[in-house]
Amino acid sequence: MTQAAPLTMGQQFGRRSWAEPWKIKMVEPLRMISRQERQAALSEAGYNTFLLRSDDVYIDLLTDSGTSAMSDRQWAGMMLGDEAYAGSRNYYNLESAIQSYYGYKYIVPTHQGRGAEHLISQAAIKPGQFVPGNMYFTTTRLHQELAGGVFVDVIIDEAHDSASLHPFKGDIDLDKLTALIERVGADKIAYVSLAGTVNMAGGQPVSMANVKALRGLCDRYGIKIYLDATRMAENAFFIQEQEDGYASTPIAAILREFCSYTDAAWMSAKKDSLVNIGGWLAVNDWDLFEELRNLVVVYEGLHTYGGLAGRDMEAMAIGIAESVQDDHIHARVGQVRYLGALLTAWDIPIVQPVGGHAIFLDARRFYPHIPQAQFPAQTLAAELYLDSGIRSMERGVVSAGRNKETGDHYYPRLELTRLTIPRRVYTQAHMDVVAEAVKTVYDARERTRGLRMVYEPKYLRFFQARFERLE
Ligand SMILES: *Cc1c(COP(=O)(O)O)cnc(C)c1O
Repeated sequence: MTQAAPLTMGQQFGRRSWAEPWKIKMVEPLRMISRQERQAALSEAGYNTFLLRSDDVYIDLLTDSGTSAMSDRQWAGMMLGDEAYAGSRNYYNLESAIQSYYGYKYIVPTHQGRGAEHLISQAAIKPGQFVPGNMYFTTTRLHQELAGGVFVDVIIDEAHDSASLHPFKGDIDLDKLTALIERVGADKIAYVSLAGTVNMAGGQPVSMANVKALRGLCDRYGIKIYLDATRMAENAFFIQEQEDGYASTPIAAILREFCSYTDAAWMSAKKDSLVNIGGWLAVNDWDLFEELRNLVVVYEGLHTYGGLAGRDMEAMAIGIAESVQDDHIHARVGQVRYLGALLTAWDIPIVQPVGGHAIFLDARRFYPHIPQAQFPAQTLAAELYLDSGIRSMERGVVSAGRNKETGDHYYPRLELTRLTIPRRVYTQAHMDVVAEAVKTVYDARERTRGLRMVYEPKYLRFFQARFERLE
């Protein structure tokens, strides 16, 4: 009996296959423990994947933050660390990489993204001011609130709908923003907090048309635009692919143009920039720079290292240049889409269109019988770990936290479990294993019960909260 030859994914999609623009030089063995051991580890971790030991994890899709594989060039750069307290040459390399790829004038390094968010929030928000943004991010909003700001979500409605196929679900709704400005007055707006590929919406991009129009609107009212540039290189890929007029523009040029419509940016370099630690702030305004450069010495370190070793800044400078290469970004997003295509073909509910850094399973549609107060996305992350040792994370009611005034949970419309793909770490075969595990958990969905929260920390509770299974 003859069997039909299996098709490659390229053949199934009617195109020639692409492959990663690198080969592997060093490997790290993976370990899978037994189901019984995973059950013990999960109970010990209070059903929170953040509390698992990494040694008990098989494929780690918790986050793409600081989990990238560095290149041989970056490792070589680590050996060129100039560990001077002040004026390290690696700082100047970092400064010129940010100036040339992002285009801002003045640079302040920080130990990671939230260090930068802390400084910019303290410097630019007066208590009682509003901070409109395209959906919140956990650490961003918290620092804005700690500085006395009031975050207002002005993202387009499509962003809150996991089934909407809008290509730029990260766009700001300019009518919502105008209404806010008219209601409170321009002087009560600290700045517009704009993020590329909106994490909480499923890694959804912002269009060039939207940021251009936003610039026009903000100029009319004299309002600044500050950009969370954490995944802007990935955002640039979507503009190249989806937006008219950019198909033959390099990612690097798209990134620069996008940043040119904004006044400042902060960065978690642990994402796009292919390093394990690092961040920065970059601004065009000298007075704001002065303030930030002064604050950084209080909270992070001198303004030429900001909490980083010289070698970390060197790896970051090299990583920035690698991160904007077209073939890198195409393979990066291509791998995320590969996993998305498998799950979509099997009718597993995920956020569409697939974003830049992760697949977001739609836990509401996955577990329609589990009410949001019983944490369906947290449950799904726990079940996936139990089945196969794959670690994911909750992005739903636990991440959303509580309303300070009423004490109630925020109940976000999106109740998601995120499978985040580290850059340059896993292969297509790992993606196959992940897809099959999700399918197994999906097939067992009707027998699955929700969770009860038994410990809740005060800030960013998703990191340390503990749960028990409901009987
Ligand atoms: C990770 C992240 C941050 C915070 O950066 P850290 O380096 O984790 O402190 C800020 N904004 C976005 C969009 C992020 O994904």
